[in-house]
Amino acid sequence: MGKKRDGVTTCGICGKSLYHGDAAYATTTGVIEESVGGFSASDTDPWLTVACKKCGLKISDLICGIDEWKTFLVTFEFRSGEHCQHFHHIFKAKTLSGAERQAKAYLNQGGNSEKDGDIYYYFGGETACTIEDVREVTSSELIEALLA
Ligand SMILES: [Zn+2]
Repeated sequence: MGKKRDGVTTCGICGKSLYHGDAAYATTTGVIEESVGGFSASDTDPWLTVACKKCGLKISDLICGIDEWKTFLVTFEFRSGEHCQHFHHIFKAKTLSGAERQAKAYLNQGGNSEKDGDIYYYFGGETACTIEDVREVTSSELIEALLA
């Protein structure tokens, strides 16, 4: 990583140089120890990530919200003349309606579609796309669905 003014290390996310005494954030492994009344970092395991304070706060926000995000598998139906094909896309959302919103936005990327009910038309109606199914999936269900 770029070391312009001999930083002691660099932020693992944005690459900013970090100097002696700078506030920093790190993730590591350790144990819960009664003598310290909580978490105690391992003396031997390396830091998994070292980041500047700004990036560290973002990492912390992501970690705290990790359980709220679910994986949704959306099945689209694409039609062009006689041709009909299904394709999938994966969205991360907190709720089913959030995933549906993302799927609709996906079909309306660049605002170049015309919508009629649940059908999105492209190229003056030559091709059309609809959302056929939106469902929450676990990683194993996702793999099964994509291999089916
Ligand atoms: Zn950073």
